[in-house]
Amino acid sequence: MSRAKPPLPILAKESFLIDSHCHLDMKAYRNDLEAVIRRASEHGVAGVVTIAIDVASSEAAVALSKRFNTVRATIGIHPHDTEKAESGDLRKLADLADRHREVIVAYGEIGLDYVKDYSRPDIQRSLFKQQLGLARELKLPVIIHDREAHDDCLAIIKDAGPFECGGIMHCFSGNLEFAKKIIDFNFHISIPGIVTFKNSRDLQEVAALIPLNKMLVETDGPFLAPVPYRGKRNEPVYTLYTAEAIAQLRGTTITEIAGQTSANACSLFDYDFISAHNNPPK
Ligand SMILES: [Zn+2]
Repeated sequence: MSRAKPPLPILAKESFLIDSHCHLDMKAYRNDLEAVIRRASEHGVAGVVTIAIDVASSEAAVALSKRFNTVRATIGIHPHDTEKAESGDLRKLADLADRHREVIVAYGEIGLDYVKDYSRPDIQRSLFKQQLGLARELKLPVIIHDREAHDDCLAIIKDAGPFECGGIMHCFSGNLEFAKKIIDFNFHISIPGIVTFKNSRDLQEVAALIPLNKMLVETDGPFLAPVPYRGKRNEPVYTLYTAEAIAQLRGTTITEIAGQTSANACSLFDYDFISAHNNPPK
């Protein structure tokens, strides 16, 4: 028998959250994507950025953004997928951006992952540098995936910058000291549902202490669902649990967290998710 889950935290009217990072094109959402997006909307999660990991998912992200005005797309090749990337892939992504720039709000996720062994580190670094260059050409903010690669990631983005359109360290996994370095570089920090896990001390400290004007929230769905859904499929509406945990850590209200992080997201992605949410297509 499963125990009843605590109800979803409730946002004040006219208060919204934006999920800055979800993989809506993945198989986990295939059977009920409309319901997932409706649930988010009904509970004040006004927008979702759906994140690409390769050429096919970049195309899928663009298609989803055309279907839902509260969803916007990224393009890019994930570090795990760099080894199987083909030589024409970056050209294809640049073409996609040329044709559909109006729905593409960022470049990513790109970066380095030294935990999983899916692609050789030298190939990861090479594609990372090339894609940072392409993101700058396209004038898009960058979304960085960094696992156990903090020093290399920071060195590479410093070398490739400046990034006038800004950037995001997604699913932040460093400590406060590293967060400060990222913020000094003028990037945002996106806090995942992991912040609700009891043992996530470093992330809780980061969420409690970084300036709110540099913070975003994300699911990284379908992965990494927050408590009380830990281990289950994650989905955008669960950013409510993440935002509530952040509010508790900071001694403030979920409404304040929602107001500032959604303003940050709309400005960084240069898209008014809240107007889109309030004006659904007829
Ligand atoms: Zn991701």
